Amino acid sequence: MIESLAAICTGPETPLELAQVLVAPPRSGEVLIEIVSSGLCHTDLTALEGINASTVYPLIPGHEGVGRVVEVGTDVSSLRPGDHVIPLYGPECGTCAMCQSNRTNLCWSIKKTRDMGVMPDGTARFSRNGAVVHHFMGTSTLSRYTVVPEIALAKIRKDAPLDKICLFGCGVTTGVGAAMTHVKHGDKVAVFGLGGIGINIVQGARICGAQQIIGVDINPDKIDLGRYYGMTDFIDASDPSADAVTAIRDLTLGGVDVAFECSGILSVMRQAFESAVPGWGQAVLLGVEPAGSEMQFAPVGVRYGKSIHGSYFGGVKGRSGLAPLIDLFMEGEIELDAQITHRMPLQDVNRGFDLMRKGQSLRSIIDFE
Ligand code: NAD
Ligand code: ZN
Repeated sequence: MIESLAAICTGPETPLELAQVLVAPPRSGEVLIEIVSSGLCHTDLTALEGINASTVYPLIPGHEGVGRVVEVGTDVSSLRPGDHVIPLYGPECGTCAMCQSNRTNLCWSIKKTRDMGVMPDGTARFSRNGAVVHHFMGTSTLSRYTVVPEIALAKIRKDAPLDKICLFGCGVTTGVGAAMTHVKHGDKVAVFGLGGIGINIVQGARICGAQQIIGVDINPDKIDLGRYYGMTDFIDASDPSADAVTAIRDLTLGGVDVAFECSGILSVMRQAFESAVPGWGQAVLLGVEPAGSEMQFAPVGVRYGKSIHGSYFGGVKGRSGLAPLIDLFMEGEIELDAQITHRMPLQDVNRGFDLMRKGQSLRSIIDFE
């Protein structure tokens, strides 16, 4: 057992507690990681707010981290101490039907136990005062030490800066990957919600050669960063008279080729669908909706050729697909610096989430070293 400083969420709507937890050694197929940095993502906030369906309290949040392998359990063959790794909330076992298909990046081989906050053998590695503390998303990167299954770790090149590339654990991969999956050269694109995900869709759409990238947000403070990453037009959805769908149809003479939703709000998902162009327009939903919600839309839009897609981790298979994206960053194609608006130690993690709630941060990074 080793001691580890961690942020613990004891239940919905309570501030995170900072405490020492005990981390048990990795068991068969598991790996002990020392986290170096971890970004804060809105999906962590859904766990803090009690609206995430896959949470068992108390838990340690965090799913956008990077670290070094400290120890491997038995039957771990692809990693050894010192390797640099990004924990994946979507694993890649390589052998299930999903992994063998090129139609999805999902792998549900350990989904059931992951959603119950435990390792694949049904037990947790974290404890405090003798009581279990659950894992979150199978990653729990807001702990200095965490245990992750080998199939949920992407090995990455050692020359990539660990204090930045944690963002590939979620935001950058989700955004840039979703754009690369759905945007074609010359497309007109709309992005609803210019947070960590939306900004990276803007960046990915520019890389893919989109001719028009329309950002929609209720927070006009996002304009500068949006333009920096390639946004060509902005619609201020906080304006009571704003009708984002009509504005997008006017700007594009009929609708966009691809409309991405990155807010987790049902009415915004619907706006994304309605702003897609008839014939072939796609709505791509990324936001995590409150548990149990359902969406309404007019089927005629689908009959007339529109489609609704979803995107999870940008459609990127984690173990095999992350390294090429990190290469793009190292070659200067993907930019990270401007989106890292705040850095802080774990002691300030509640301030990090407050900044996110108030829309004052794009990405805050927790530095463990
Ligand atoms: P964020 O809080 O940084 O950004 C959300 C943005 O949406 C903010 O800029 C906010 O001002 C804007 N917004 C709020 N209401 C709006 C409205 N009515 N119209 C337009 N914009 C509005 O969050 P994030 O980290 O970028 O995450 C975005 C969403 O994506 C969350 O729901 C998160 O849970 C989800 N997510 C999904 C995946 C995936 O794999 N699909 C991965 C990570 C995050
Ligand atoms: Zn995330």
